Amino acid sequence: MHTKTNLKALTPQQAASFFHDAGLPSFRARQLLHWMYEKYAQSIEDITEFSQTLRKRLSEQSHISNLTLLKRETSEDGTEKFLFSLEDGESIESVLIPDKDRLTLCISSQVGCAMGCLFCLTGTLGFKRNLKAYEIVDQCISVSRLIAPEKPTNIVFMGMGEPLSNFDEVVDSLWRMTDLMKISKRRITLSTAGIVPKILELGSAGQSAGQTVFSARMRAPRVNLAISLNATTDKVRDRLMPVNKTYPIRSLMDACRRFPLEPRRRITFEYVMLSGINDSAADAKRLITLLRGIPCKVNLIPFNPYRGCEFGRPSDETVLTFQKILLDAHMTALIRKSKGQDILAACGQLKAGYG
Ligand code: SAH
Ligand code: SF4
Repeated sequence: MHTKTNLKALTPQQAASFFHDAGLPSFRARQLLHWMYEKYAQSIEDITEFSQTLRKRLSEQSHISNLTLLKRETSEDGTEKFLFSLEDGESIESVLIPDKDRLTLCISSQVGCAMGCLFCLTGTLGFKRNLKAYEIVDQCISVSRLIAPEKPTNIVFMGMGEPLSNFDEVVDSLWRMTDLMKISKRRITLSTAGIVPKILELGSAGQSAGQTVFSARMRAPRVNLAISLNATTDKVRDRLMPVNKTYPIRSLMDACRRFPLEPRRRITFEYVMLSGINDSAADAKRLITLLRGIPCKVNLIPFNPYRGCEFGRPSDETVLTFQKILLDAHMTALIRKSKGQDILAACGQLKAGYG
């Protein structure tokens, strides 16, 4: 049986070939992309710019896939969590966080996560599979459609999964966000637990071997980088984040120093504060030393507990003392108010109905 081509799965180049092979002019491919990525068309039928005949003809050999919204929950603080199912029945979550003049969409890059960080609920689920580029970007499309005429102003890869473990699909999704959805790369942030070679690859200007999709241009758009640091010694980080055994703090910091930053851009370091584990004054001082010379800001995230976890959240006083030490050393350090805790939408609380 011949299966229909999923138009949303195609890169712009593949869409161009698809239309070319069908004997259709190339502007039709551009119209298709415009309708899918900027007008959020959910089916070929939605593309009213195409004649009935063209829509019928396309529908014979192709279709447009969509994430299926299973659940939409709103927190007391306005944070919204979207549970989507994928075509194979797996599910993922995306979180929309309003904050002053921003509306940040936090998206997933994998179903589950293989990194096994001890403090993270997603980590305890284990890894199910990588998301495809179109499944990643479809979180932006679907949420934008659901909240229209509003639009997310910022996109962060801080949902389920480790984006740099799914490098090619994530990079492809980044291009779709910047080129097709017209989201500024300055408003996109990729967060990683610290996969050093991939951080270097993300920063490199070169093309990947055998890359057919977006050849003759930078490997990836220069989006913002966030590092989930969470500890200041290898001993503690080894325990909290097993990835540290492969890429210890020194190699991570070295990669950060080598990461090419655009003018006035900074690396964000996320630091989940766990009571009695990484929240001492000595930790704050070590953090200052580690980050010396790196244009950066620090986001302190008081731990969000979940059922069965072994860690506790430090007192407000401990968090403020830690922050003050950083501020006194002229660092930028924000305490991230955790949003959406009542609906398990805060950092590290996503499990998409699993477990
Ligand atoms: N895998 C990537 C992207 C996910 S981001 C990464 O780890 O960077 C998830 C962020 O939430 C990370 O900064 C992580 O350190 C933080 N986090 C995970 N579990 C948490 C929890 N229980 N409480 C607060 N923050 C948590
Ligand atoms: Fe994965 Fe990030 Fe959670 Fe670690 S913190 S388990 S890398 S999602």
